[in-house]
Amino acid sequence: RGVNEDIKKPRIYHPKEHGVKRSNISDGASKVMSTLGKAGYDAYLVGGGVRDLLLQRNPSDFDVATNATPQQISKIFKRSRLIGRRFKLVHVRACSEIVEVATFRRNPKSECNLGKRGIVFQDNDFGSIEEDAIRRDFTINALYLEFQSMNIVDYVGGMTDLADRVLRLLGNPKDRFSEDPVRILRAVRFSESFDFRMVGFSESQLRRYGRYLEHIPSARLFGEIGKLFLRGSGKQTFNSLRCFDLLRYVLPLTDSVLSSKNTARAERFVLQALSNTDQRVEEGETVTLAFLIAVFLWESMIKEKEKQSKLLGEDREAAVRAEDLVLHGQQHKMAIPRRITNLVREIWQLQNIFLNPSVRKAEKILKNRRFRAAYNFFFLRAESGEPLSDLIEWWTEFFDQTVESRKLYFSASRSYKKRTYRK
Ligand code: ATP
Ligand code: MG
Repeated sequence: RGVNEDIKKPRIYHPKEHGVKRSNISDGASKVMSTLGKAGYDAYLVGGGVRDLLLQRNPSDFDVATNATPQQISKIFKRSRLIGRRFKLVHVRACSEIVEVATFRRNPKSECNLGKRGIVFQDNDFGSIEEDAIRRDFTINALYLEFQSMNIVDYVGGMTDLADRVLRLLGNPKDRFSEDPVRILRAVRFSESFDFRMVGFSESQLRRYGRYLEHIPSARLFGEIGKLFLRGSGKQTFNSLRCFDLLRYVLPLTDSVLSSKNTARAERFVLQALSNTDQRVEEGETVTLAFLIAVFLWESMIKEKEKQSKLLGEDREAAVRAEDLVLHGQQHKMAIPRRITNLVREIWQLQNIFLNPSVRKAEKILKNRRFRAAYNFFFLRAESGEPLSDLIEWWTEFFDQTVESRKLYFSASRSYKKRTYRK
């Protein structure tokens, strides 16, 4: 019995029925698809781009699928690069965008002749559009928008699932989650951010198969973290990950802090940071991963610092050692680039200045590019219940001063340290 027997005829939705317009698609993706079409190949917009346009959301990227092979694609586009371990994908530069162009392929596991040694990518892994549709993760991610006609081609019932607000897994949970455990995180992310009902898999299966996440490469896990927490539903996603006991695979240190005793303040701190981030996303403000990582690891860092202080005595040395240990502990799971860990350290280190305001230090902090992030972090600490409100008052007043009045303000509040809280 061949896999092809399972494949049904697609349902076609005309532009009038689905409402997506060509002008909704980015210039780069449009250019790539029309060029592929002119060269005689099929070209479709697929994945999150189609899904988000149908949901009237802003797509984060536009992916193109085609029957042209990577070699054929790179021949057509001069400004292109073969990507991936076995050159499965092509990145094409068009209209100052990078468009990911992928050849239709089938799920290697559906080929029974691979043996036990795992997935091997060969030329015969390329497939038809039908096969490409069923190897995707959820039905709502397997819709193909044909650029020429602007028809949506639906092999899996994704259009009705979108309308019914259903996140339906393609295939069976055990196989699909073990083949690629990142799908478990994607399941949580999509169900939370769209508020869709899980169908074809259950919460208890997410919990059960979560342990597969132990083995995913740290670079891939890093790729997911921004999508989980910086897309506007970070707080809910975080709560779900905890609820399904998945947080420990993503943020093990945070998970263990929040699983210990007396965690109310640490929890408020993390959740407040996430909801502030969601708010900023909604208002179109910039958000940074470094800030959140600094938040996620803060409590562990403080605990580690106390431990190291006992061992090393010297404060500064203990702090650096604690930062190293905690960041390494997280990086073991997740490949966080150095530019981000450097920022995390900076946010942490600047906390001392906010705790001990002085003329000299305050002048210095204003020149530091990171001071806003560091101050927001400090503010959040106060909000979550650390006794810092006097200091917040001081800094708020300080920021309100004009450059001229600042000096005066400083001399008036020079005696500050003596009368207020110091940690
Ligand atoms: P977003 O871009 O908003 O994060 P997306 O669904 O577009 O969401 P991408 O990582 O850009 O996510 O992937 C594009 C498409 O590739 C998906 O819509 C899905 O069809 C397919 N895909 C991605 N990851 C997987 C996976 N782990 N298993 C199966 N199919 C996947
Ligand atoms: Mg995408």
